[in-house]
Amino acid sequence: MEKGRLKHAQRSLDAVTDTGALTDRFGRTMTYLRVSVTDRCNHRCTYCAPSEDKFTLKKREEILNFKEIVRVVRLMVGMGVKKVRLTGGEPLVRKDVDRLVGMLSELGGIEDLSMTTNATLLKRYARSLSQNGLNRINISLDTLDPDRFRMVSGGGELEPVLDGIDEALKEGLTPIKINTVVMRGLNEDELAAILDFAAAKDLTVRFIEFMPMRDGVDWEALYIPIKEILKREEIKERVDTGAVPDKDSTAAYSLPLKSGRGKVGFISPMSNRFCDGCNRLRLTSDGKLRSCLPADMDVDLRSALRSGGTDEELAALIRRAVLLKPESGEYNFDKEGRNRSMIHIGG
Ligand code: SAM
Repeated sequence: MEKGRLKHAQRSLDAVTDTGALTDRFGRTMTYLRVSVTDRCNHRCTYCAPSEDKFTLKKREEILNFKEIVRVVRLMVGMGVKKVRLTGGEPLVRKDVDRLVGMLSELGGIEDLSMTTNATLLKRYARSLSQNGLNRINISLDTLDPDRFRMVSGGGELEPVLDGIDEALKEGLTPIKINTVVMRGLNEDELAAILDFAAAKDLTVRFIEFMPMRDGVDWEALYIPIKEILKREEIKERVDTGAVPDKDSTAAYSLPLKSGRGKVGFISPMSNRFCDGCNRLRLTSDGKLRSCLPADMDVDLRSALRSGGTDEELAALIRRAVLLKPESGEYNFDKEGRNRSMIHIGG
């Protein structure tokens, strides 16, 4: 390459890395990206799946391809992102998602590459995910009762999920975190059983407060604050509440179980907002960068990706999304037609 062009190439690379850390207007630096790889899911969870009349699945061509996802992640890693989590919809229904894991892992620079899944297909994928560079996995599991599982997931089976957990343990996708959304009248009577399951398998289970993400679901009826859970006898019997909590992330802390195996974490997006330390960005399956889960402020990256946008132009759009991040996202309970299902944004 002649000298002038080399200099120019160097300058454009600098322009990308030069933009420095992704710091927002409130001094928070973004280091964590969640990537939704599909809006499809093999479960229809009663509290999560959007009502059919308000949600149309994106056409295949609307969804980012692997090259596009990798390009965005590469740029963002250059801007300081260190943690990347693949999610969905259900990430394991995206064809060849294990190949995407390999492509991301080869980029270098990602310190923690993980996935959130309902684990129905995990038994089949655990080995290749691990071989391709996935570090660990979070598994959503709201009940251990097969009939209730069928009811909550809209027809799913519990057994493959349990098999998937065992396979992930075998393949070293650890530490495995089990995510349980606690809902009144739905699974609140199972918290002790879920803690015993975590102790038996030496896993961390995280109890998560239910968030008002879409209409048609009676949030007030289902919501239980973490504080209330901590007061329950069956929890006090099992959790070492006197231990110094581990700060797992900006959103979660965990405590050991008294049995000596397993841990329990608590995530309270409703009762104890953790916006102050929020370091997250979300890339939706159709290429929008979202800086705050409840705030409808997305920046479209797909148009730039598909119209020959340069790395500098993409970096500027990424920075714009970060600058749009509100100090604190508000859940708007009154808004009509709210249909921000997690399935669409990427939970
Ligand atoms: N399909 C994958 C799974 O099940 O893990 C990834 C996507 S799913 C949308 C991610 C997580 O969001 C699940 O653990 C689900 O329970 C959670 N979720 C969905 N709606 C929620 C809500 N309204 N409040 C809290 N968590 C929610």
